[in-house]
Amino acid sequence: MATRHIAIIGSGPAGYYTAEAAQKAFGEDVRVDIFDCLPVPYGLIRTGVAPDHQSIKGVSRRYEKVALTDNVRFVGNVTIGQDVSVAELQELYDAVVLATGAPKDRDLGISGEDLGNVFGSAAFVGWYNGHPQFATLDPDLSGKTAVVIGMGNVALDVARILSKTREEFAGSDIVSHALDALVSSKIERIVILGRRGPHQIMMTPKELGELGNLDRACPHVHQGDLPDEAEDAMLEPGLRKSATILRQFAAIPEDIRAEKPVAVEFAFFAQPVSLKGDGKVEGVEIEHTELVRGRARGTGETATLPADLVISCIGYRTSPIPGVPFDERAGRFANDDGRILHGLYCVGWARRGPSGTIGTNRPDGYDIVQSIGEDMDDGILGPAGKQGREGFDALVEQRGLDVVTFRDWKKIEEAEEKLAREGAPREKFVDIEAMIRARG
Ligand code: NAP
Repeated sequence: MATRHIAIIGSGPAGYYTAEAAQKAFGEDVRVDIFDCLPVPYGLIRTGVAPDHQSIKGVSRRYEKVALTDNVRFVGNVTIGQDVSVAELQELYDAVVLATGAPKDRDLGISGEDLGNVFGSAAFVGWYNGHPQFATLDPDLSGKTAVVIGMGNVALDVARILSKTREEFAGSDIVSHALDALVSSKIERIVILGRRGPHQIMMTPKELGELGNLDRACPHVHQGDLPDEAEDAMLEPGLRKSATILRQFAAIPEDIRAEKPVAVEFAFFAQPVSLKGDGKVEGVEIEHTELVRGRARGTGETATLPADLVISCIGYRTSPIPGVPFDERAGRFANDDGRILHGLYCVGWARRGPSGTIGTNRPDGYDIVQSIGEDMDDGILGPAGKQGREGFDALVEQRGLDVVTFRDWKKIEEAEEKLAREGAPREKFVDIEAMIRARG
């Protein structure tokens, strides 16, 4: 078989699983270039996964194995859709796979969303994880109350990170600017706001359980908010476990709760209707809800929660790329099982939206490679003979792009490891210039 060329845009889990699958399917007959707009790889593993969840980040060792083979290369510091268009890549590569994730916050769509100290989780998580785009966010943590909107795992990450002590961050790779700000935070009440009830949370048991083991924070669940215990039996096993954990939280005696200075309160059946404040947020107006056929319906009864900081953790959207069909309603590329146009595909969150674990992207990557193989066999991708990486390198030369290679990344990584606080795996560079300087 003649060599085929695949361009993958995005070097997060979906991108690397796709590269791994392509290697397995096509062996020496394929050349894969993985592009990233940052000079560093691994996407969500680096800038999304919580810094105190280092074991999850360990999966990058698997991606590195793929990256170090001859037929896969990392092309960092190149923004597709800006430095090079998707159409240009399609000229050069047999298949172009968009693995760009869902890096933009979904809007709440309520008034006051643009007040100061109101952030989406992409921005807030990006801040404590050192994403260059959000490193200067500088949230004000001097107030008493934070409201975290949404009851998914991202809301849990955010509530936990807001609660931890310096000692509890030992061994994490939280960036120093965030660590310093968080440990001098004055927040003593974190309200996690859910528009539905305890049986509708999107929080997985392991992550929810962590809230019960924090040094200075204690979860508060009102007994009266919990449905009859017999109803837990109807839940799928993971959610049933989470419901049991909520019951354990509700049973924590008041005197034990009072020992911890930070309260993490679960407010169920409350949807945000507006954010109040004068320049900066001061409150969240909520409307109580009831469940109607599984959906939240407002009861008309409203109340205002004080709020000095609001972080909305209600999901993400993919960033559109010029020339690529986009499904505005779903917030991802318009696709049919990952196929967008002939020779143009998408995987991971860019294909199915922001759901599932890191591992969910693995079958996605393997599926799309199977589709690419079928499209080759069916002649949809045309005959072999595209220029692939040689053609791209000519474009780099012509446009004077400053590409960062995997070898460069290893130097950046080494420099980050050298800068690490004691016990931490690394101190991330938080701006692109610093990353590029570190490659020497
Ligand atoms: P998610 O699991 O979809 O949760 C989003 C939450 O926001 C839901 O509670 C949802 O409520 C709520 N919501 C949505 N729109 C809302 C609105 N307009 N007003 C109020 N509430 C609203 O999303 P996520 O937490 O961003 O997580 C994304 C994915 O990453 C998930 O698959 C998650 O499991 C995964 N993740 C995993 C980990 C981990 O395993 N450690 C960590 C972080 C993220 P409704 O249910 O009522 O819509």
